[in-house]
Amino acid sequence: MSQAQDPSTLVVSLGRPARSPDSPLNTPIVPASSFIAGGEWGYARYGNPTVDALEQTLGVLEGGTAVAFSSGMGAAHAIVDSFDGARILLTRPGYAGVQHLMTKHSPRFELTRIEANDHDALRAAAAEHDLVWLESPTNPLVEEVPLADIAEITHAHDGVLVVDNTFATPLLQRPLSFGADYVLHSVTKMLSGHSDLMLGAVVATDPDRINELREARIVLGAAPSAFDAYLALRGMRTLALRVERAQESARILADRLREHPAVRRLRYPGFGSMLAIEVHGTPADADQVCAHTELWANATSLGGVESLLERRRAWEHEDQLVPETLIRLSVGIEHVDDLWNDLSNALNRVQS
Ligand SMILES: *Cc1c(COP(=O)(O)O)cnc(C)c1O
Repeated sequence: MSQAQDPSTLVVSLGRPARSPDSPLNTPIVPASSFIAGGEWGYARYGNPTVDALEQTLGVLEGGTAVAFSSGMGAAHAIVDSFDGARILLTRPGYAGVQHLMTKHSPRFELTRIEANDHDALRAAAAEHDLVWLESPTNPLVEEVPLADIAEITHAHDGVLVVDNTFATPLLQRPLSFGADYVLHSVTKMLSGHSDLMLGAVVATDPDRINELREARIVLGAAPSAFDAYLALRGMRTLALRVERAQESARILADRLREHPAVRRLRYPGFGSMLAIEVHGTPADADQVCAHTELWANATSLGGVESLLERRRAWEHEDQLVPETLIRLSVGIEHVDDLWNDLSNALNRVQS
């Protein structure tokens, strides 16, 4: 076909074996640590055909070349590894694991953290750093950061921009098209979509950066398993359907939550399937809400077919900028009325 296909088609059609009589429709799981010498893989930390199929699919969706890792954190670590001694700008609050990685390793580079919602400070600081690391929408406050602006400022000063695109997925936002140099994914979340594996990826376009990422995977030992790559690709086949459904439900839930007397503040960027609410009362009241849903599960993580909620500050390492009564909601694909009935019942326990 000569015309460019829609991402909802590509996510179904890519990463499959060449068509010949009796070739399988799906990429086989190749559980090999070692390959006969003389080919492109050799050893599974360097590459694997099942992992290749996942990388090919995600690379096209984001508009670059993907390198897969055993987790999103493995992928994040691989990027950071290339920036020893650099001045790094990181927005906060953000995904707690990345914040921890950066603050723990900060002696290796100069780290500045700036509040993600202070866009003026962010623009000013972007001009003075070698590496700018953004999430948009952010975790867990679901705030949008002006990606295109920051990309322009960063590049005008020869800086490099990383965008964590885990929340939006390439169906809703393609950071490379805004000028990002690296796109980070926790494939564990929305992309794979079934809360049954851990996997990460980085997508880039510069061949030197792609080689550095592959090298980092080899030396960090953060290679994904063929089985997990297979599951991730299988999950991605329904990405467009899941995103569409969850996004529509999130929109409806946002409208209803805004009116609920127990909700002090709703945070919703207007797209995607992540929401956050602050409830009236104390952290214990918020815990009561999380403890009394029957359909929504009180569990960490996000982006699965099943709806999850959690009070983020229940985690010791969560940023102090995150309100104590904030509950993060990951909307799944259950019927929106069932989700609402369950959630509003639990919220009714909170006195406004
Ligand atoms: C989960 C997550 C990560 C880390 O990914 P893992 O697969 O858990 O290692 C990074 N960024 C964001 C935004 C995440 O939600």
